[in-house]
Amino acid sequence: GIVVLGSTNMDLVAYVARAPKHGETVTGREFRTVPGGKGANQAVAAARAGGDVAMIGAVGTDEFGVLLRHTLTSSGVDTDLLHTAEGPSGTAHIVVDDEGGNAIVVIPGANGTVTALGPGEETVITSAGSLLLQLELPLSAVLDGARAARRHGVRTILTPAPVQPLPPELLACTDLLVPNEHEAAALAGVADPYGAAEVLLRRVPEVVITLGAAGCLYAARGAVPVTVPAPKVTAVDTTAAGDTFVGALAVAIGEGRPMAEAARWASAAAALCVRRHGASTSMPYRSEIDEAAS
Ligand code: ADP
Repeated sequence: GIVVLGSTNMDLVAYVARAPKHGETVTGREFRTVPGGKGANQAVAAARAGGDVAMIGAVGTDEFGVLLRHTLTSSGVDTDLLHTAEGPSGTAHIVVDDEGGNAIVVIPGANGTVTALGPGEETVITSAGSLLLQLELPLSAVLDGARAARRHGVRTILTPAPVQPLPPELLACTDLLVPNEHEAAALAGVADPYGAAEVLLRRVPEVVITLGAAGCLYAARGAVPVTVPAPKVTAVDTTAAGDTFVGALAVAIGEGRPMAEAARWASAAAALCVRRHGASTSMPYRSEIDEAAS
């Protein structure tokens, strides 16, 4: 199975013609609450893609916590190890203007309480096939998870977002790194994806760099890098495209499919996601992915 160690956030999104300047008040057009958090998004994506998925993390004792947990369970994610921590859930306060530009404040809330793993969590990780990690939880917990996975030969798949300098030990415990183009450039210090992949392969054995509408680049040590094009679709909302990609990729890898094929299938999943509005609500189910990928 797949274990996701990561964040849950309620996205509170205000749609306005123009974002307010400091000290200014503007009247917006619409407000939406969208369940998110990179961890939860990847868990939903993997479960819908047909994976057997458990989520480790925390929600708060507010109403958002109930909704966030429900979002996961209704897509079939096991939340037995998703703790309920006294206090607010994680929230992201997002202002989207008419140009599609956004400004975001993230308050970790319950996510910030996940600083270390207990024996129960370690046991679940060590019996998994893959562990999915991102950087929206305290780094100490991410490292704990990566170490436990490495000790037991569990494949670790790291999404380095929000991008930040990574401790060498975390990279040493990572089997597959999946940055987007910007994250890859920031981590490698090289703008070109091929160049970035070459630099990143000195630290991890396999890299998939996602390239938005251009697809993705798969690179492994000692092999020629492969570009996998994305299906041509009309993008309506690219929120959570990367998380959909990683969730589906993990499922395909777990089924033993070769990387190029897994990446093609994950691209089909992500393309379905960007054709629809929403974040986790717009993620495709396995039958849709199979149909689109065939
Ligand atoms: P992130 O969403 O993390 O910034 P990307 O923008 O690279 O990451 O998108 C992740 C994946 O989603 C891409 O590799 C691609 O498969 C898919 N995707 C994103 N945008 C599009 C698009 N406009 N058309 C088709 N697929 C897309």
